[in-house]
Amino acid sequence: MKKHNFAAGPSILSPYTVEHTAKGILDLDNSGLSIMEISHRSKEFMAIMEDARQLFVELLDIPEGYSVLFLQGGASLQFCMVPYNLFKHKAAYLDTGSWASKAIKEGKIFGEVDVVASSKEAGYTFIPKDYTIPGDADYFHITTNNTIYGTEIKDDMDAPVPLVADMSSDIFSRPLDVSKYALIYGGAQKNLAPAGLTFVIIKNDILGGVDRAIPTMLDYRTHIDQESMFNTPPVVAIYAALHTLRWYKEKGGLNAMHRLNLEKAAILYEEIDRNRLFVSNVTNEEDRSIMNVTFIMHADYKDKEAEFLSFATERGMSGIKGHRSVGGFRASIYNAMPRSSVQALIDTMQAFEKKV
Ligand SMILES: *Cc1c(COP(=O)(O)O)cnc(C)c1O
Repeated sequence: MKKHNFAAGPSILSPYTVEHTAKGILDLDNSGLSIMEISHRSKEFMAIMEDARQLFVELLDIPEGYSVLFLQGGASLQFCMVPYNLFKHKAAYLDTGSWASKAIKEGKIFGEVDVVASSKEAGYTFIPKDYTIPGDADYFHITTNNTIYGTEIKDDMDAPVPLVADMSSDIFSRPLDVSKYALIYGGAQKNLAPAGLTFVIIKNDILGGVDRAIPTMLDYRTHIDQESMFNTPPVVAIYAALHTLRWYKEKGGLNAMHRLNLEKAAILYEEIDRNRLFVSNVTNEEDRSIMNVTFIMHADYKDKEAEFLSFATERGMSGIKGHRSVGGFRASIYNAMPRSSVQALIDTMQAFEKKV
């Protein structure tokens, strides 16, 4: 039985991505070599990386003056690389979940951090809206999609200081106004590629303002100058990313992706709200993520959690157990998740409701 993969990350990739990457691993474009075996400086790989970069620019409509970098170390390394390169005397952060708070922790190593608002006390069940971004901060850091808690900032905000966004789990889920951001980063393993690749979209002119010495590998300027070739980039993950990007383009780009994502999220939330067994853990409807849908058993049916999980597993649902810090369930419905799989989950929820 083909499984419906609701894993949060690493997570579902399009069949197009998996098949083409598998082919390239066996034999790259009839070269007699595997993509895993060729030099990252070969003309074949240079073309792959350039095509991937071009598709980033095209799909996200990235303006002039920005660089697209393919790095390693995950979003987690960006938590410290951002302050290393941008922190002068003070930074501002919005605390919307575990990943945001990890970024804050790294920021504090560099000096004063102003956490402008936090929904921690409420278990991160909403996105704080009532706050002021200090005009004297070097940057303002947000996490656009809170993968663990299922909340999402869905609009590109205006910030009076350079805006930095961790978009690990919602990049490519909707069209973006990149010009509103100074820096966007994320691990690729949620909506783009297998683990091992970190993407960074950076406005070149925000760099060069700090006095500290920056280790070469942690200095964005190294990777801008060397076009992500300072050291060996994650060749296979970039190759896979290229296929995901081609698939996005073929499917009609990010407007089409966004429409499909809104539809999938709408039918699933509708079922959670309708079904007497389940409740959403996101209190503000407008904050509900269209990528990670978190829900728990209704208080009257708390004892049915394990039973639902095994019922759903038997019916081919994979990866729906909630994060250990939230409990309940989480259906990650990234771009590559077909509507039919979301429908299969809904059918499972309805079948379980009839049984209980
Ligand atoms: C998964 C995730 C991370 C961590 O990414 P790594 O690549 O494992 O470091 C950070 N932020 C968000 C929003 C995530 O979803």
